[in-house]
Amino acid sequence: MATETPKTTPAAAAPAAAAVVEKQTNCPNCNKPIKKLTRYYRDGIFYCAKKCWRVTVEKSKQEKADTDAQK
Ligand SMILES: [Zn+2]
Repeated sequence: MATETPKTTPAAAAPAAAAVVEKQTNCPNCNKPIKKLTRYYRDGIFYCAKKCWRVTVEKSKQEKADTDAQK
């Protein structure tokens, strides 16, 4: 009798995270659909406008400051 169990690959769950980035069609700041002509690309993320990129940068700066303050 074979006691060998089929190995399940943990990699099955991994590709989902990568797919989210590839399928990004909305601005992470205002959630508007990003149009090719007006999109603004920074640090691997598309924004609908430079303004939204700036807002996101300020937000992440604030979050980082908060995290640093908690140390
Ligand atoms: Zn936006």
